[in-house]
Amino acid sequence: MQRNNSKLNIFQLIAIALSFLLLLTVFIFFAFTKSPYILSAIKENGDYVRSASYWHRVDLGVQCDLCPRNCFLTEGTRGQCKVRINKNNILYTMVYNQPAAINIDPIEKKPVFHMLPGTSIFSLSTAGCPLKCTFCQNWTLSQTYPEEIKNVEIITPEQIVYAALSRHIPSIAYTYGEPVAYYEYMRDIARIAHAKGLRNVMVTSGYINEKPLLELLPYFDVIKVDLKGMSKEFYREEVDGYLDSVLNTLKILRRENKLVEVVNLVVPNRNDSDEDFDKLTKWVHDNLGADTPVFFSKFHPDYKLANLPATPVKTLQRAVEIAKKNGLNFVYLGNVPSVDGENTYCPDDNTLLIERRGFMVNRINLKDGKCPTCGRELPGIWE
Ligand code: SF4
Repeated sequence: MQRNNSKLNIFQLIAIALSFLLLLTVFIFFAFTKSPYILSAIKENGDYVRSASYWHRVDLGVQCDLCPRNCFLTEGTRGQCKVRINKNNILYTMVYNQPAAINIDPIEKKPVFHMLPGTSIFSLSTAGCPLKCTFCQNWTLSQTYPEEIKNVEIITPEQIVYAALSRHIPSIAYTYGEPVAYYEYMRDIARIAHAKGLRNVMVTSGYINEKPLLELLPYFDVIKVDLKGMSKEFYREEVDGYLDSVLNTLKILRRENKLVEVVNLVVPNRNDSDEDFDKLTKWVHDNLGADTPVFFSKFHPDYKLANLPATPVKTLQRAVEIAKKNGLNFVYLGNVPSVDGENTYCPDDNTLLIERRGFMVNRINLKDGKCPTCGRELPGIWE
């Protein structure tokens, strides 16, 4: 009996040694390739990743030219947005065909108020974002690596467009996270959608370089820009980006005659002073025009600022007052169903043109896109 036991122990020792070797091999493989997902997924022009647009080779790696970060990536590393990787000195996007969220929303939820009120909009996003807002309201998408998203289905641009068309949805929104992160996917969907007569809306932080932005514009109807504040320090400390880059994007959009709506998420004790509202609304008035719709949206405690309270409605109403005093004609409350904060009035004779409550549109009182009383044109897309 004793002899049998000692033979068994030798086999066990060999099995343990083999298991250890196997584990060591797997560990080395993981450590040196950084991500097994990446190796199995990279297949240029395949379903999972695509070579990215807007980058160039530099000594010891590649440089991304898509957003103002202009990340320098050595072999195997990713950009700040978490979804672009240098593999064999080629820059790849890791989120092409990989939406992490798809919904059909009321267009008022974006919020977009000056395009097709009362309609639905097909909305999607992938993981990733070039910025790191401490107050992000969609951080589970924007601050996530693509391989952390569970149950991702491969959906091609053609399939997205078909899904919208077959449900008679007139527009597509690139939203939730930051669409610049999935630039190539967005561009290809938007191009096909535009050719099929659908409208495209980009909801963005505006953190994008001029050349890639210009390539997108022919396919887009409305660009909703999240102007997070007017202080360089605020952008540096709370957003991890440059204010000037966002202002530059807004000026380009104005120069190219694009319909722009601006949203400002008001975060308590961060960007909620009268001076903040005054500076922001004067800048919009002087650089984008008095008819630019501006939203002041309520912050919900989240991500790194979960300790802060939600924005008081009174603060938002104060922002609206300052904006109107500075000459803006279309100022709205965001994330706050209210009696008056979401309606559109004619700036000339105060006729109620669009009555909204929450995400509902109760009444549209327009005649050929104009005020039925005085004939003033309402900027926007109405059919
Ligand atoms: S898109 Fe991503 S990789 Fe490219 S510069 Fe911006 S953060 Fe860096």
